[in-house]
Amino acid sequence: MGSAYEALNTRLRDVHNLGMAGAVLDWDQQCYMPPGGVAARADQKATLSKLSHELFISDETGRLLAQAEADGGETEDDQAILRVVRRDYDKATRLPTALVEEKTRVTSLAQEEWAAARQADDYGRFAPWLERILDLCRREAEALGYADRLYDALLDLYEPGMTCAQIDPIFGELRSELIPFSQALFARADCVDGSCLTRDYEIDVQNAYTVDLLKNCGYDFRRGRQDKAVHPFCTHFSKNDVRITTRFDKNYLPSSVFASMHEMGHAFYEMGLADHLEGTPASGGASLGLHESQSRLWENMVGRSIEFWKKRYTGLQSTFPASLGDISLEGFYKAINRVAPTLIRVEADEVTYTLHIILRYEMEIELLEGKLSVADAPEAWNARMQELMGVTPPNHREGILQDVHWSIGILGYFPTYSLGSVLSAQIYDAALREIPDLPQRIEDGDCASLLNWLVENVHRHGRKYLPGEVIERATGSQLQTAPYLRYLKSKFGAIYGV
Ligand code: ZN
Repeated sequence: MGSAYEALNTRLRDVHNLGMAGAVLDWDQQCYMPPGGVAARADQKATLSKLSHELFISDETGRLLAQAEADGGETEDDQAILRVVRRDYDKATRLPTALVEEKTRVTSLAQEEWAAARQADDYGRFAPWLERILDLCRREAEALGYADRLYDALLDLYEPGMTCAQIDPIFGELRSELIPFSQALFARADCVDGSCLTRDYEIDVQNAYTVDLLKNCGYDFRRGRQDKAVHPFCTHFSKNDVRITTRFDKNYLPSSVFASMHEMGHAFYEMGLADHLEGTPASGGASLGLHESQSRLWENMVGRSIEFWKKRYTGLQSTFPASLGDISLEGFYKAINRVAPTLIRVEADEVTYTLHIILRYEMEIELLEGKLSVADAPEAWNARMQELMGVTPPNHREGILQDVHWSIGILGYFPTYSLGSVLSAQIYDAALREIPDLPQRIEDGDCASLLNWLVENVHRHGRKYLPGEVIERATGSQLQTAPYLRYLKSKFGAIYGV
């Protein structure tokens, strides 16, 4: 009928497609591109990002949006899409095109510098880039606007509506509960022997095993694939092309197995989108915290549960007979749930993981607000590690240089990991209320029951609702720390006899 709403959607589909094309270039850069391609690739990504941003923030988009709002959406979906576009448009029009373009170019180069600095354990090589990125993030936050803290503007990009004022008490509670709980577990370290996991695990065999495991859980390789990356991630170019990456360590089996399951959880979210929302502004996850709740749920609540391995463990044993032949199911289950003070966030156990996040959250705010200098940051990092976990990194590779995030210009992102952990328990609890025999089904090889429940209650909505609305609809209440703390204390309390 040639309405403003239809014209708006046609225009926004171009914006969406430019974004997806950029995602392909980014996937290629992280998985396959030779180092020589970096400068040209930075330019190519900057061009796509500029075109997409200009098209989106143009007066014509604003005019069509205002007209479509005045007409009123015909269906509930139309109205939801208009709300999503309004939020995105207001956010994007506050960012100058030159700033967006500069950030894309700087971070593309900074990411390569970070990778080289990390490899060489040379913080000094990355420091000037971090300085530039912090400056860009401050300008970004100022342009976006905020009511209370500079950091709130960045948080809102990943977790709409979330502020430091909301996170501080949540992290405060987790900090005060998890430090003594983890110390109690550390004191009983003898209860769990994780050494079987550091034996020899041939990388090609790990690769084949993770592919089989993903298929077993319901990840559809006709709509996805798995590749290798330094920092595992999930990306999508449509709901029918959702790719994951993993990492392999010949002497640490969990690196690949749980990175694969984690990224699979992200992939499920994208693949589960309702068909009619595909390619619209309501596609994608409602927030990073919700996205992370899905990856954590599959990685930890399913992947590290005893029921998941009860009937699958013999298959793993026969895949790696020399390394696991003498390890019982119980021994393996305890090993994959070993709690210890760790240096590397992505290899941290479920109990101490949030302590890693609290460290980054506090440091990001201090760096952004200028209370901590880039030069002093490594020392501050090491001091906090000592305070939270009682360990000091022996080098920067296992300290401040370990994460890709700052190099790609995303501050305000880390807290979403722990919000995701908290939510994963709340959402799993809700699924369990409706499917009381869920653990038995997972044990019997049926992951589809859980996946279907998640699709129905979380995935299919995409960004149609705000994060708080999705949580309320799926679980019947707002974000709560209680299910998460209960889950951790019951599972790890049993393993360690605490
Ligand atoms: Zn994740």
